[in-house]
Amino acid sequence: MTERRHFALALHGGAGNIRRGTAREPAIRKEFQACLEEGRSRLSAGEESVDVVEAMVRRLEAHPLFNAGRGAVLTSTGGVELDASIMDGRNRAAGGVACLASVLHPISVARRVMDRGEHVLLVGEGAAAFARQQGFETVPAESLVTAQRRRQLDRARTQSRIRLDHDASTQDDDGRGTVGAVALDLDGHLAAATSTGGLINQLPGRVGDSAVIGAGTWADDATCAVSATGHGEAFIRAAVAHEVDAGMRLASLDLESAARRALERAEACGGRGGLIAVDGSGRIAMPWTTAGMIRGRVSANQEPRISLFDNG
Ligand code: ASP
Repeated sequence: MTERRHFALALHGGAGNIRRGTAREPAIRKEFQACLEEGRSRLSAGEESVDVVEAMVRRLEAHPLFNAGRGAVLTSTGGVELDASIMDGRNRAAGGVACLASVLHPISVARRVMDRGEHVLLVGEGAAAFARQQGFETVPAESLVTAQRRRQLDRARTQSRIRLDHDASTQDDDGRGTVGAVALDLDGHLAAATSTGGLINQLPGRVGDSAVIGAGTWADDATCAVSATGHGEAFIRAAVAHEVDAGMRLASLDLESAARRALERAEACGGRGGLIAVDGSGRIAMPWTTAGMIRGRVSANQEPRISLFDNG
């Protein structure tokens, strides 16, 4: 009997107080559709999941609609500080960067940290020096800043608030956020990747869950691949991404139940958000505890599907 080979891919574009009918919604759906189609053709051609999740996140980092790379939210001093991480389920190889400015694709710097294998997490000036030394193209930090992000920071400063991208005021809330991808490839390997600019008006030097393996990103072929989005402090304290793994491995929960339980843990630590996860059979879970989460999925036997809210 020939073994049936399967692939699956899920993406998120952040969770939060996403509103219906904004001007940006069609653009988000269009970009997600294009990403899912590209991901499907890569995975069906036999590309490795770790390469596909990196490619998906790179696409979204380059798109100013999302809070990663170009279009990232700003710190309280108006700076850009990018966090990203990636994990390979074959061997739990992992890499992350935090507080990185002047690089359009932090996910690829995180990938290089992982591939070199000496370290798992590089931050700030050290991460920037590593990126330069590894030949990554640097860009002026201001080139990553959009006028909309400046206005958003001004409003957050006036209200003295630190916020999730999607929880910004109604004027700002046009549906953009942290990005992530999880995938199962034809060889049965899992991988996850996450990238963000963090929280609006966060203190310089603050690192959220998206850079932290086990909090924002996790992958192990034996269980699942996870990419999270939400209040990073709570997600770190609840070790959300690893909590999904633990639920499956130690409590024999299925993917969906383990994913929901992990978000309950984050809520108990005072933070809301969502996650995308895939297991070794290609099952996908995409729970969230905020008003909405930008998300999309595609698999060997299912057309791309994109949703922002409960029902669509
Ligand atoms: N989790 C990210 C952080 O705390 C923010 C987000 O997901 O929107 O940096």
